[in-house]
Amino acid sequence: MTFRPEDYRAPLEQAVRYAREWLDSLPSRPVKPAAPVDQLAAAFARPLPEEPADPAAVVAELATLAEPGLMAIGSGRFFGWVMGGTLPAALSADWLVSAWDQNGGLRYATPATAAIEERAGAWILDLLHLPAASAVGFTTGGTMANFVGLAAGRGAVLGAAGWDVNRDGLTGSPRVTVLAGVEVHISVLLALRYLGLGGPTLVAADPQGRIRPDALAEALSAVTGPCLVVLQAGNLHSGAFDPMRECIRLAHDAGAWAHVDGAFGLWAAASPRWASALDGLDTADSWATDAHKTLNVPYDCGIAVVADAAGIRSAFGAQTSYFVQDDAGAADPMELVPELSRRARGVPVWAALRSLGRSGTVSLVEGLADNARALAAGLAALPGVEVLNDVVFTQVSVSFGTDDRTVRVTQALIDGGAVWMSGSVWSGRAVLRISVSNWSTDAADVAVAVDAVAQALATVTTAATDGE
Ligand SMILES: *Cc1c(COP(=O)(O)O)cnc(C)c1O
Repeated sequence: MTFRPEDYRAPLEQAVRYAREWLDSLPSRPVKPAAPVDQLAAAFARPLPEEPADPAAVVAELATLAEPGLMAIGSGRFFGWVMGGTLPAALSADWLVSAWDQNGGLRYATPATAAIEERAGAWILDLLHLPAASAVGFTTGGTMANFVGLAAGRGAVLGAAGWDVNRDGLTGSPRVTVLAGVEVHISVLLALRYLGLGGPTLVAADPQGRIRPDALAEALSAVTGPCLVVLQAGNLHSGAFDPMRECIRLAHDAGAWAHVDGAFGLWAAASPRWASALDGLDTADSWATDAHKTLNVPYDCGIAVVADAAGIRSAFGAQTSYFVQDDAGAADPMELVPELSRRARGVPVWAALRSLGRSGTVSLVEGLADNARALAAGLAALPGVEVLNDVVFTQVSVSFGTDDRTVRVTQALIDGGAVWMSGSVWSGRAVLRISVSNWSTDAADVAVAVDAVAQALATVTTAATDGE
């Protein structure tokens, strides 16, 4: 087969065409997918074709078959889980990442993407007021960013206990105690599992889900060996931030490593509005966040930050004769994350930050929180609606009275298609959980959302009355 540049033209043009059709439809289309997965699976159910096909026709077939099964996550009316959309500059940069096809692991081999990612990392440290000498690794998401921070921590606390985990593994090592708040995110549990550390010891939290410093102090007093403390900046249900300065000081006084899971909430550090809520954040040892949530870059992009750059390299660095490594002594990108080969996923982060600037990034974060507040206020004004959390950031948890009613309103809301919000359980109660994470959500979307909830509520109320 021969490389002919013109062979890319028609399929790329098709991709642009279908991408634009999709993006053009976002402001008006229903948020939920039109068809369920079994229907999509049926649409794609054909044996592997024997013969080649025209690439442009492949793109057209793909886009056409997929369309009914796409969720409008990029819509300003999508409030599910904690998922951002994608900024125009970030999406476009992501396409270039694919066209360039750089394997982003080595500074020497792929200098452009290495330099771009290093700059994006430096901007993030500046924007979030994290220590400037920290190492920044670009992971697939928050789960792996937690994994990276906790891996660096595991190596450090075991090293301090005289145990080399890289050489000797965990078999026979001193036991590493992990302390985390009861509302720790599931991804931290996964990261600990991957690291062979098992489940954490859970520490009591207050009604907003913040870890209680007195409970943490008590838990730490019972720890004798190596210890990791996992804090949270941004609780999934309330958006609340753990008391950073006090908890990190307690951890450090006990010789423990302090890691912060800030998958969406770390971005609050960009704005002075949360300076006191996040006071002391910069004193932690490692931080995890997502760019594909609050920063609104395409999937998949998480960010791991470790204050001790040498520590992260000792966890992930690899030396072998066929990696020609950078002689300046700077860390190669592959020394900061689990993957050797990977796409240059930090490039869209650079583009997002370059397009927003500092002021635009701050406005983005503050705007999400403003809209969350407006949504909460609109919902609280509806009869029978209770907003359960203090709306301090982008998350709102709502009850409609009984659990059964809340579940039914949530389903009616999703079925309506005007918006998407997730059902969840918080502190033992069924909730409708709202996350304002899309850069394009505006006042009109907020109004549509409040209206959609009011309608879902009316449907459920009528159905209940009919049934009586
Ligand atoms: C989303 C989230 C994660 C996991 O991030 P992924 O990008 O989905 O891997 C971790 N912690 C919190 C608080 C989150 O909201």
